Order: sequence, then C-alpha cells, then structure tokens
Amino acid sequence: MSKKDTIYFDNAATTFVLNEVLEQMPDIYKKFYANPNSIHSEGEKSRSVIENSRKKIASIIGCKPEELIFTSCATESNNTIIRGLAEKYPEKKEILVSPIEHKSVLNPIKYLGNKGYKIKFLKIDNNGVIDLDYLKKSISKNTLFVSVIHGNNETGVLQDIEEIGKICRERNVFFFSDTVQSFLKAKIPLEVLDFFSISGHKIGAPKGTGMFFKKDKIEIEPLLFGGGQERGLRSGTENTQGIKFLADVVEVWKENKEKYIEHLTKLRNYFELKLKEEIPDVEIVSEKVERLPHISCVIFPKIDAQTLILSLDTKGVAVSSGSACSSGTPEPSHVLLAYGYKPEEALRAVRFSFGIKNNLEEIDICVNYIKEIYGKYMTFMNFS
Ligand code: PLP
Repeated sequence: MSKKDTIYFDNAATTFVLNEVLEQMPDIYKKFYANPNSIHSEGEKSRSVIENSRKKIASIIGCKPEELIFTSCATESNNTIIRGLAEKYPEKKEILVSPIEHKSVLNPIKYLGNKGYKIKFLKIDNNGVIDLDYLKKSISKNTLFVSVIHGNNETGVLQDIEEIGKICRERNVFFFSDTVQSFLKAKIPLEVLDFFSISGHKIGAPKGTGMFFKKDKIEIEPLLFGGGQERGLRSGTENTQGIKFLADVVEVWKENKEKYIEHLTKLRNYFELKLKEEIPDVEIVSEKVERLPHISCVIFPKIDAQTLILSLDTKGVAVSSGSACSSGTPEPSHVLLAYGYKPEEALRAVRFSFGIKNNLEEIDICVNYIKEIYGKYMTFMNFS
C-alpha cells in the first residue's frame, strides 16, 4: 500500500461504488437516457430496466416486485413511510419509537409530535437492546405504528426485529424498521415487517438511490405529488440508471454474501483485539451483544473523539463519530446518551466502520497511529 492511500474506515457513512457498477456506467448512461414514462420504444427500454431491476431485487429478498418503491435515499424513504402512515390513518395518534433511531426517523416523528401525536419512547438496556416487555405494555389501541432500527448506525447493535414484528402483528399495529445498515449484512424477517427502508450508497451503489418495502395491500399517502410514478407513492422521473445499479449491487452481494460478511467480521474482530492490546482501557460499546459485522464503536479513555478523528485524518485515516457538530461545539450522540453513557463519555466515542475493500494491514497501520497519537496526547496533557 502506498503511503498516500487513505485508509477509509467510514463505510457506515457511505462506501465506494462497486467496480461491477463503475465499469458499466458510461454504457448504461448512454443507452438508457430516455424517460421511462414515455411511450416510445426508447422510453420503454428505460422502463424495462426499472421493472427488471425491481423483479431482480424482489426475487433476491423474497418479496413481490410491487412491494418495492424506489426513492432517492433512505431519508426520503423514512419520511414517506412515517408521514404517509400518519396521513392515511389520522384516527390513530400514538407512535412508539426507539430512542436510538437515525435522525431521518426521529425528526419526522418529532414533527408529528409537534402536530399533536403522542410519541412514546421505548426502553433500552445499557447495551442498547430494546426491552420487549415494555414494548408489549406500551402498545395501545391508539398506536399507529412501532419504529425500531434494525442495526444501529453508531454501535452496530442488532435488535430482534423478528420478535418485535411478531409482537406488533399480534396487536394489529404497523411495524417499520430502518434497515439501512443491516440490509445484506443481517437477516431481515420479511414476514413480520410492514415497512423497511434501505439506502444504495451504504452498500456500493451510487448516491441518489434508495428504496423501501411496503407490504402488499397496506396503503399510505405519498409525500410528493406529481406524475404518479412508483404507484403514486414517489412522483418524479425515476433514476433509471441508479435503480439498475442498486439491483446490480444487491446481486453482487447475494453472490458473495457469506464471503463479505466473514471478511467484515474478521476485520472488526481483529481491530478490536489489536486496539485492546495497545490501549487496554478502551471500551468497545456493546461488545457482548449481537452486532453488525462492519461497525465498531470505541470509547477512548481521556482523549476526546474530535481530537482523535482530526489527528487520524492528518495521517490519512478517515473515521467518524456520532456526535453532531452543527453549532461548532460537538454535541454528544443521542444514541450513546440513550444507552446511559454520560455526555463526557459519549464525546470520547469514535466509530470505525469497515468495508469489503479494507484489509488487515490497514488495521495494523491505523492501530499504530492511534497508539502514537494517544501516547503523545497523554504526555502533552500530562496524564499518567
Ligand atoms: N438510516 C440509517 C440507519 C443511516 O445510517 C442513514 C445514513 O447515515 C440513513 C438512515 C439516511 O440515509 P440516506 O443518506 O440514504 O438518506
């Protein structure tokens, strides 16, 4: 590896476009330029690219093609599901949601809260796992839907969405899960889900590609009104090429799934082992519970996340944290606060997220840099 190559360990934020997709881009953009809604032959060619992609994804994940709606990103999918349910079933005014959702779920739900909806937050234990008894007790006849993220984007912790889905089904309540991080990396129990959302740029498709699953026969109102594309649920000319690339990526993953998951798990385990050897006081968040293979959230002793992230960046290593920094001062992650961490602990949390192109050598280099930065920082701050 040349010294100049960036070591990219921020694959949960976004990941590179797969070569299988990159290679065909010029050709596909040249060939399928026509509007898929035009009735001429060129338009029909684009239409069949979309419908074949839909069929391909449906057959891989085991649902009906008409249960898949293409969007531009997971934020759009999440907003469409949440606001679409609220508009369609205005008689139910209560929503149950985990406190550890992504902002693209929490914020549209908070928006509904401001419009008079009662928002109940589910309980989690200090590993971030949903309390199922509390969920059972909290569902009432006014509950419209339950929303629980499958694999958390900051810690990787997986929820038992199969059990949560069964609980919702028995009580006749819609169940939605944000599966952006878990899609292709963990089993998604379709039979108990009413909705789930995914994002193309997290799995190797270009940005601008998203999708959601909506169980057949459930109706929701659209977010966008216009030409009525995607069964009236997502008006706007479809991103023909993006949809094809998304389907291609799902296919590549299907063919290599076991290999990819094994590789990611190996990288994560090796990283955590090496890091603990060098800095024994680090805490790997929720190390003992079931997690996604590609995410490791580490709370460092003494050094704050921003200092470490910026120092690693000067060495060419890209990682991130869950803290928001919109005001200039970092705010601790709402996810880690919900786990019960103190704000000062949450501000020392760094997320390392691995991709299929990463290798063990990069981990060795990264851990050595961390050791060096950490050692200098301790000397500088005069910590013993
Ligand atoms: N949900 C989760 C769990 C995510 O990690 C992200 C992206 O970080 C999103 C939703 C939003 O995805 P998009 O960038 O496609 O809007």
